[in-house]
Amino acid sequence: MKAVKQATRSQTNSTKNRSRQDDSVLHRACPKCNGKLTLKTGRYGKFYGCSHYPACRYTENVKVNG
Ligand SMILES: [Zn+2]
Repeated sequence: MKAVKQATRSQTNSTKNRSRQDDSVLHRACPKCNGKLTLKTGRYGKFYGCSHYPACRYTENVKVNG
């Protein structure tokens, strides 16, 4: 049997984890529709895609090592 300890009260971590979605958002806007370019992973690797997909299908290659 496993001794399962459930921490029901966790009031300690509150301020640290602000949602950091910005990691995957490019700092440029989509040149076509001014939407957000977000990092996506397709079968060919990672790329930036417009957040308005499929209405806008703009994509941009991810720069790897400059
Ligand atoms: Zn767009």
